[in-house]
Amino acid sequence: MGEGGRTTRECRLLHVDMDCFYASVMLRDHPDLVGAPVIVGGADRGVVLSANYPARAAGVRSGVPTRQALRVCPDAVVLAPDFTAFSEVSRAVLAIFEEFTPQIQVLSLDEAYLDVAGAVRLLGPPDRIAEQVRARVWDDQGIRCSVGVAATPTVAKMATNRAKPDGVCVVPPAEAVAFLRGHRVEQVYGVGPRTAAVLHRLELHTVADVAAVPPEVLEAALGRHTGRWLWQLAHGRDHRAVEPGRSQQRAERSMSNESTFAADTADAAELARHLLRLSTKLAGRLRGAGMAARTIGVRVRYHDFATLERSRTLREPTDVTHEVFAAARGLLAALRTADPTRPVRLLGVRATGLVTHDRWQPQLVLGERAEGWADLDRAIDRAAARFGGSMVRPATLVRPPEAGAATSEDGGGGGPGRSTV
Ligand SMILES: [Mg+2]
Repeated sequence: MGEGGRTTRECRLLHVDMDCFYASVMLRDHPDLVGAPVIVGGADRGVVLSANYPARAAGVRSGVPTRQALRVCPDAVVLAPDFTAFSEVSRAVLAIFEEFTPQIQVLSLDEAYLDVAGAVRLLGPPDRIAEQVRARVWDDQGIRCSVGVAATPTVAKMATNRAKPDGVCVVPPAEAVAFLRGHRVEQVYGVGPRTAAVLHRLELHTVADVAAVPPEVLEAALGRHTGRWLWQLAHGRDHRAVEPGRSQQRAERSMSNESTFAADTADAAELARHLLRLSTKLAGRLRGAGMAARTIGVRVRYHDFATLERSRTLREPTDVTHEVFAAARGLLAALRTADPTRPVRLLGVRATGLVTHDRWQPQLVLGERAEGWADLDRAIDRAAARFGGSMVRPATLVRPPEAGAATSEDGGGGGPGRSTV
């Protein structure tokens, strides 16, 4: 262990991940709640998006229904998510990363790889750079993050899990194999529940177990590609590559907003209102992220949990509320014609095929796109930024009382490394 740091230039990769990102952002505006269990998510029939550590300690997990989480942790305070704030903080954090290196691969709103090889001469060894990044993020944004430092992406990402919360974990190349083999298979970045289940059936529970069998066994059980990848990883060969610069459009390949209704409904007007509200939110998030969607999708879950989805690719990408809603309304109408009286439990709108503004120059064909709609959206965004989103809504949303619908977000897409096998 060298003086002042355990890392060398070889250990050039930082995986930076905000701690309980959604909850941390929401807590900045609620300092009185720090230390109390906090859930960010939809109230009533919604789901948990994120929970802070006190809530997690009580057994709250993201993705479970909020009601269920409140049974586990009755003292928890439920805060509604503020997606505009999330994307603002995300962009600010990315700007901080760019102070350290231009070699960045963004994996999601709150997670990125930084290749800091080029910064070592100026800033010191990577583990010290990791502390500098953490200090900058905390000073500037009031958010804690954890950093894994390693020579390869998989190890760096897994080191971050070990570092959490609010820490740094360095895995020098010489220790990477031992580090990996100390993990259970389901803890390996890229091993999903199905793969883990297959491995457990073979009595392979740890990466050390995996390393001890011939590669053919893994290939037979998991398929050639996955089997070989896992075997090589267990032997210290990580072929996953960091792709700097391919950030935003890869990080968020989709966005969606959905609502579970307080009561199932088959009322067309009510469904249209929900659809407009969801479309408004979704388009606002697209604009907040500087993105436009090529494809709009609609998801309907019926009272019996049967779920149908339809999507349509537009002639050109859009971030315009009116266009998102028009596409979504057409899709919903097509879905409902078969069974117009079937009660709907959940409605969702999804944007996929996302492109960033720098890659998308709106083609202003006269008469093709109503310019006024985009202007209206921008005005709404500005007003929402000043007065809060609930103040400013399209007029059709103002009239009826909202049916206590809670919005959950599935984060959508995920980075290239996010895929589970
Ligand atoms: Mg995180």
